[in-house]
Amino acid sequence: MSLRKLQVQYITGAHRRLRRMGIYIHVPFCAKKCAYCDFYSLTDDASMDAYVKALCVDFRRSRTDLAGASVDTVYFGGGTPGLLGHKRLAQLLKKLRSNFEITADAEITLETNPATLTGEDYAKLVRAGFNRISFGVQSLDDGELATLGRIHTSEDARAAVKAARTAGFQNISIDIMFGLPGQSEESLGRTLSEAIALEPEHISFYGLKIEEGTPFHEMRDKLDLPDEDLYAKLYLLGAEKLTSAGYSHYEISNFAKPGLESRHNLRYWKLNEYIGFGPAAHSYLNNTRYGITRDLNGYISAVTAGQLPERSESEPVEPEAQLREYIMMSLRLSTGINRMVYEARFGRSFEKPEEFFRRISRGGLCVPTDNGWRLTAKGFLISNTIIVKLLQYLDE
Ligand code: SF4
Repeated sequence: MSLRKLQVQYITGAHRRLRRMGIYIHVPFCAKKCAYCDFYSLTDDASMDAYVKALCVDFRRSRTDLAGASVDTVYFGGGTPGLLGHKRLAQLLKKLRSNFEITADAEITLETNPATLTGEDYAKLVRAGFNRISFGVQSLDDGELATLGRIHTSEDARAAVKAARTAGFQNISIDIMFGLPGQSEESLGRTLSEAIALEPEHISFYGLKIEEGTPFHEMRDKLDLPDEDLYAKLYLLGAEKLTSAGYSHYEISNFAKPGLESRHNLRYWKLNEYIGFGPAAHSYLNNTRYGITRDLNGYISAVTAGQLPERSESEPVEPEAQLREYIMMSLRLSTGINRMVYEARFGRSFEKPEEFFRRISRGGLCVPTDNGWRLTAKGFLISNTIIVKLLQYLDE
């Protein structure tokens, strides 16, 4: 862009309209805690109305943070946002629209559990403006679902996807997990075949992690968890099955039909700005990352009293940290690390990364792209180790 054009944009304020933003709303309610989950959510739903009211106050207070920005992705995550019901969700979306500039083509996602909403609810959500729905299916094997402590059956999941489709959702995502206790290649293969048959536009394919403080962590020695070898086989089986079915493996754990990648999640991986509302929500604004304390009542009291919600952390992202974040995030994506971005944005020579990737490419962990390198599925499997080694090498 020419200097003259930039000057004109500054004079007219057009540069401010170019600022794109995402909004995340954390909904910390679940009907029952799953045995493996460490997300912030509560099973007591008595504060739902007070929470919705507090969010609306917080939206209004935050208008200045997003002044001049266009919001092109909105994501209701949790917890189980569907538990709020269509009326509260429609109210929140309306409030967002009245406080922020939401673009006409914004991706507006609702996460939910397959056993929470009815066909009628889905239709009302579509009418309210939700255009993407993400179901926590996890498995289509009833034994595995019971072990995970999910409240739904595989039949509930199939029925929910079909009902959402009939109600008008044209962009449906489902989560599937691998590495579950007792899971075999056969049972995962069956789950994936059935998931593909439901024709969702997007599939998130996550490995189970045993998180501290969860029931699974306490009983970890008794769980029949896959060993390292089987865990790797399950991941590679999933990647192969999903790509053969026409899904592009665009991020370590995410697969999408062409053009239907999650725009909101891409924002996180591409280090673009977003603002999060509610306890446990995170934001990345003006080169600062911050999180809100995991305390629903504290959040409601602070916000309704006109105060800022308490932050659990807040850290400016300095240029050196930005470079590290770029390396970590770009290697999660199938587009990989880009030589031109690396050199132009961070003013570094790409010589050392080039040498590093050339070396590990001999083991099939990465392949060259037109402008850099990307990890293969085999590389994604050990991406953390690759990233640590690359960062150490760059520091030498
Ligand atoms: S439904 Fe989701 S957020 Fe709620 S407890 Fe289960 S995994 Fe966690």
